[in-house]
Amino acid sequence: MLNNQETPVIYVDNSATTRMSQTAVAAMLPYMDKLYGNPSSLHSVGQQAAECLAEARATIAGLLDCTPAEIYFTSGGSESDNQAILSAAAIGERKGKKHIISTAIEHHAVLHTLKKLQKRGFEVTLLDVSAEGMVTAGQVADAIRPDTCLVSVMFANNEIGTVQPIAEIGAVCKEKGVLFHTDAVQAVGHVPVSVKAAQADFLALSAHKFHGPKGIGVLYARKGLPLVNLIEGGAQERGKRAGTENIPAIMGMAAAMKEACENLEANMAKMQALRDRLIEGLSVIPHSTLNGHPEKRLPNNVHFCFEGIEGESLLLLLDDKGICASSGSACTSGSLDPSHVLLAIGRPHEVAHGSLRLSLSEENTPEEIEYIIKAVPEVVNYLRQISPIWHDLQEGKKDHVI
Ligand SMILES: *Cc1c(COP(=O)(O)O)cnc(C)c1O
Repeated sequence: MLNNQETPVIYVDNSATTRMSQTAVAAMLPYMDKLYGNPSSLHSVGQQAAECLAEARATIAGLLDCTPAEIYFTSGGSESDNQAILSAAAIGERKGKKHIISTAIEHHAVLHTLKKLQKRGFEVTLLDVSAEGMVTAGQVADAIRPDTCLVSVMFANNEIGTVQPIAEIGAVCKEKGVLFHTDAVQAVGHVPVSVKAAQADFLALSAHKFHGPKGIGVLYARKGLPLVNLIEGGAQERGKRAGTENIPAIMGMAAAMKEACENLEANMAKMQALRDRLIEGLSVIPHSTLNGHPEKRLPNNVHFCFEGIEGESLLLLLDDKGICASSGSACTSGSLDPSHVLLAIGRPHEVAHGSLRLSLSEENTPEEIEYIIKAVPEVVNYLRQISPIWHDLQEGKKDHVI
């Protein structure tokens, strides 16, 4: 069944990273060439760069519904998450508040930062999520204590695509006077995001998840909130993030974000239709289950578990058929531990191992979706035939769980 003949690549791993849009590439090129100035330089070449930097900052602030002074350019989502959480922790610590609330399904950029804070004496409550991967504002309200300094809940999950009730959670935090951070890396450019609507104090985003360049992102921090420096040096980013600004990447990010936000409605509708067709087509596979919320999910996310197979083998065989997908997050692939997100939604270990994430972009076509709908069941069947676990299930030596 394997064929190694050249097949066109179908890229459905857009939650890991996206291809840069032509608009973003075009926006970057002049800054690698003629417009090479350092915005900190006082001469004309530098000041030209400074003006462009200010423009990009204003564009992004406008799209996020905040002021340019609340935008900090960072190296990406991970850095933004780290800086937001460590800054909120420092604010809390000064007031003797050392309790943080988050969820069991956050990205490791959040979870590992929280682990670090636990070693510094912070107490962390990780909220359980529902079988669909949801947390509620009520859960957050119940978990808030007098010593809580921060609530950190991701806007949308990078593995199973569940979109959280962020505005409600933000409202609870506001009412209780607790800082609120949201990792919006999978949300920005994919669903409407406004820091005002979210009532967020901090928000993280990353350009390479919305057809912008890699290694560049934004930390939004509400006006007046003191930040902890992760990088010391020059006075860039109002003294809060040292290092000469990556102007080409910043210009590419601003262009990609503008493009994604301007086309948001149309892209959402297009991807939702492709997503729903894909879900419908794969749901017929016996002993499979859709992960994440059936409606409150990212327009580009499809995530399944198939019983009796290994996700890694599935990915390799799909790759042979020209389909580039993922078993979950790019960060956990390569390790044998099952995804913490799938365990958190109650999938047993052996089921969590047989996972497949197909994350679409507006560039995918209906023909590609039909090809995937044909290829995945073939590969799943093939793998099941050679799987000892599947044989045990068939012979009744083990019980099906899905
Ligand atoms: C990709 C991702 C990150 C990390 O962003 P980088 O820019 O790659 O550092 C953080 N959180 C979520 C939810 C992500 O999907």
